[in-house]
Amino acid sequence: MKKLFLPLLLLSVPALAQKTLLHCGALIDTEKGEIRKNVTVTVEKNKITAVSSGFTKAAPGETIVDLSRKYVLPGLIDMHVHLEGETSKDQFQRRIQSNEADVAYEAQKHARTTLMAGFTTVRDLGGSGVNIALKNAINKGLVDGPRILTAGKSIATTGGHADPSNGIGNGLALQGNRADGVVNSADEARKAVRKRYQDGADWIKITATGGVLSIARSGKAPQFQDDELDAIISTANDYGFGVAAHAHGTEGIKRALRAGVRTIEHGTFLDDECIALFKEKGAYLVPTIIAGKTVADSARVPGYYHPFVAKKALETGPLIQAAFARAYQAGVHIAFGTDAGVFPHGYNAKEFIYMTEAGMPVMEALKTATAVNAGVLEMQDQIGSISPGKLADIIAVDENPETNVATLMNVTFVMKDGKVYKQ
Ligand SMILES: [Zn+2]
Repeated sequence: MKKLFLPLLLLSVPALAQKTLLHCGALIDTEKGEIRKNVTVTVEKNKITAVSSGFTKAAPGETIVDLSRKYVLPGLIDMHVHLEGETSKDQFQRRIQSNEADVAYEAQKHARTTLMAGFTTVRDLGGSGVNIALKNAINKGLVDGPRILTAGKSIATTGGHADPSNGIGNGLALQGNRADGVVNSADEARKAVRKRYQDGADWIKITATGGVLSIARSGKAPQFQDDELDAIISTANDYGFGVAAHAHGTEGIKRALRAGVRTIEHGTFLDDECIALFKEKGAYLVPTIIAGKTVADSARVPGYYHPFVAKKALETGPLIQAAFARAYQAGVHIAFGTDAGVFPHGYNAKEFIYMTEAGMPVMEALKTATAVNAGVLEMQDQIGSISPGKLADIIAVDENPETNVATLMNVTFVMKDGKVYKQ
């Protein structure tokens, strides 16, 4: 048997790596907040191997990608998307009528749209669990989409924001993995985290307070008690999971921060004590301003949402931008995230417009969506900047985002993992 190994090993020696030279007219370093003119970025296989001044000439066999009239930056990272679905007037009905296979086909479309918008990595914060299969399909190269870190199915309490049976009659109970993750004790909370590990999730998402889009009265009330939160965090720590907490209401934000979540999503009703806790714990706020604005707009369309939802959307949505501004001014760490799916996928970069409107400079907003998010995901050695050794996740826009932030909504070049998807 041993003799067979030698020829197999010889066959597996890789051929000389093919080089691609990206001639970048302007390269945005979002970490330093600088723009370098006329730079060549060398890509071999899926990695960046050099970043050098001037436009390097191609040797025989090397490929040049001309981005000399573009602004080039690292692939963007969105910390909060839901790739399985998208807002629509009949979304509640569709959720009941769809099988997992229907969800999967829709999800792969949303994934492709997201990648083409320049988001090369996303954290999917909850669906039915199809998002785990989607991640695997993208990693296998079966489907085009961003690199996904997924929470699988969110963990909620009975009647809580991510309880899939909200608004559904007793005779129509949802089955299978959709119902998993509804917990009502510390023991059940531990089991739900372990189930995420078994399913292949990368993060834990909890709904620490009510939310806008669930058919339930309160969008603010805390929905976990301290013993349940402690069980979630300590079990997540055992498995190396970070925990993300959806939280609008003040008390729920505080409980989640005290328990040790890594990110708070939305943070709508944060107060000074919340701000102090954010800073003490080193937690990040993921603002999702665009989601707040979108749900408030949709709530004004008669019949778009269930009456419970419309009322909450009008109360909560318009406050998120101000909550972000307050947290940012106070020095809370901000991680870029949008809640895409609550608004149509592909418009994620509109969040940059809202962040800058609220007082954050464009370059700093870009840093939150690249270097900062890479750090929150503990992937700072792989993504988040255009530097030698990192994965070749590179995008380009036609104008300088510092003078026209809206150009980020029109990404004209996308490379992920060394492969060009849009040019
Ligand atoms: Zn969300």
